[in-house]
Amino acid sequence: MAITTTDPLLGRLVDGRYEIVARVARGGMATVYRAQDRRLGREVAVKVMHPHLAEGVEGASFVSRFRREARASARLSHPGVVAVYDQGVDGATSYLTMEYVPGTNLRGELQAGPLTVDRALDVAEQVLAALSAAHRVGLVHRDVKPENVLIDDDGQVKVADFGLARAVTEVTSTATGTILGTVAYLAPEVITSGGCTPATDVYAVGVLLHEMLTGSLPYPGEPPIQVAFHHVHEDFPPPSQRVDWLGADVDELVSAFTARDASRRPAHAGAALAAVVGLRAVLDDAVLARAADPPEPPAPAPEATDSSPEGIETVEPAQDAAVDEIPAGFFAEVSVRAHDTEHLVTSPARTLEHDSADAADSPGRPRGRRRLVVWLTVLTVLLGAGAYGTWWWFADGPGAWTTVPAELAGATQDDALAALTAEGLEADTVEAHDDDVPAGHVVTTDPVPGDPVRVDGTVTLSVSLGVLMLTVPDGLVGAEQDAASAALREAGFAVDEARTAYDDDAPAGEVLEVSVPEGSEQPHDTAVRLTVSDGPAPVRVPQVVGLGKDGAESDLSDAGLAVEYSDPEHSTDVDEGRVLSQDPEQGATARRTDTVTLTLSAGPPDAEVPDVVGMSSEEAVGALEDAGFDVDVNRYLGGLLDTVRFQDVDGTAAVGTTVTLTVW
Ligand code: ADP
Ligand code: MG
Repeated sequence: MAITTTDPLLGRLVDGRYEIVARVARGGMATVYRAQDRRLGREVAVKVMHPHLAEGVEGASFVSRFRREARASARLSHPGVVAVYDQGVDGATSYLTMEYVPGTNLRGELQAGPLTVDRALDVAEQVLAALSAAHRVGLVHRDVKPENVLIDDDGQVKVADFGLARAVTEVTSTATGTILGTVAYLAPEVITSGGCTPATDVYAVGVLLHEMLTGSLPYPGEPPIQVAFHHVHEDFPPPSQRVDWLGADVDELVSAFTARDASRRPAHAGAALAAVVGLRAVLDDAVLARAADPPEPPAPAPEATDSSPEGIETVEPAQDAAVDEIPAGFFAEVSVRAHDTEHLVTSPARTLEHDSADAADSPGRPRGRRRLVVWLTVLTVLLGAGAYGTWWWFADGPGAWTTVPAELAGATQDDALAALTAEGLEADTVEAHDDDVPAGHVVTTDPVPGDPVRVDGTVTLSVSLGVLMLTVPDGLVGAEQDAASAALREAGFAVDEARTAYDDDAPAGEVLEVSVPEGSEQPHDTAVRLTVSDGPAPVRVPQVVGLGKDGAESDLSDAGLAVEYSDPEHSTDVDEGRVLSQDPEQGATARRTDTVTLTLSAGPPDAEVPDVVGMSSEEAVGALEDAGFDVDVNRYLGGLLDTVRFQDVDGTAAVGTTVTLTVW
């Protein structure tokens, strides 16, 4: 059953960054958690090595190999590959972070029984596409099995644990208490010589196909060591043996993938993928849609997953319930030193006993001794050749790596090239502008310093061209603001919000000033600010009515206003030549340079002077006053007859003129 004790890592912050939220599963090598990456604010999966794997001298080498493999697989970027983000050590916790894949794994999908032919081919295609990305960069997965084929909520496949199996295998061959790859998917050459090639992964996909199509592995209920023996000495059984309606073309494909002689398989995942696609094309829709009946109620399949040295490893039900059925595993039993014969003799016997208790058809004791001899032979080969193969791969073979020299970043191009040449590495150069690194110096390398690179590999140097400079366009001053901003943006500059200023000469919206000289070169991240006219400043119109012409003009020009005159008008109130009215009026708001129109007084109008000679003085005064004139009366002889004898103004005269009358 699933382990129910509280996991001490739950709720903890690993490396001050990854908050462990939930346990996803516990595998043979590690426990996988869902976690929140606080720094990048995203969900990640954190894989924490079982602490016993990191103990002692072998443990240290395991950790460093684990790290190296993690880095190598981190370079693999493919939608079908679970992305590895980071690895590190926090105290005793050696961990790896990767893309979190919500969903299940292929083991989970197989719980529901065999897949349709269509889905089986679909999964195989997706797995092979991911593997072929790895094979192209020289990585062999080596541990392809349903537990490492993750399936997200959309049914998309993502393959996990690239390269990690190798780290495990190497340690297994020398250390106590560790595990080997999962034997049910192991190709014969791995068992006999420890050597692995891309075709090793193709074999595993062949086994997966068999399992997806038939719902079970070919040797159910047999102990792992016997399964290994079958793989080495017998042809892998065709799926039609269990599911009779599967045609010869399906059998042929599975047989080709699982050929005992690796050279007779498709050489790598790309070739295998082409074969699967070809098979799909010749199958009928009816066959594609069909799924096999579930196999007989299972005798447990011990090789279906890893199990731990303690024999208690289980996977949480959410991810995989089947694993609960797995008996104490083979690998627990073989985890003893090769020369420790006593353990070797007794350990498989314990496995046998264990199996006898569970499996109805398990071999009886009398046959046990002969089987033991076979197991011992296979074991010895496993433990010896596995180590050699792995050593060869890393030391001499295509898997030999060195690291990119540390001193490259910031060095001059010449120094960097010399450093690479000294390491025997090739260099490619690309140039790029950079704000921080001076021209001619190295900005970054690919791979980055300290990262692994093949001994005969190439490092790409990105050499700085210095800061990218842009040219400020001409003709901005005097242009419309919108046009000037557009020209600046087109030239690559950011444009800050404009400042405004009053200007008597420039209409509102016209550019007055630019914060950088026109035509100059400026760094690409310069933000340019325009000063734009808001037109002439506003002013209050002063009061000039009643003032003389000169006074009015000087007051208006002090306020920045211009003057215009309309025709003078008669007025009896305002003296001739003074301002009779203004437009706009006093107190109105105008802009500097606006014009104020003045009307000057033309003085009073003329009128006809009535002829009053001969009238009585009273009559005469009335007539003249009615016509708008003032009257003075001079009386002679006591005003004897009261008759107007003379008037001093006649004809026409300005209204208000005084007319003097002589009366006697
Ligand atoms: P196993 O040997 O079973 O693959 P692992 O420690 O690699 O052991 O993983 C255990 C299980 O955890 C896997 O079978 C899978 O169901 C789940 N798992 C592993 N990696 C992830 C991931 N990145 N996202 C979600 N689940 C994962
Ligand atoms: Mg795994």
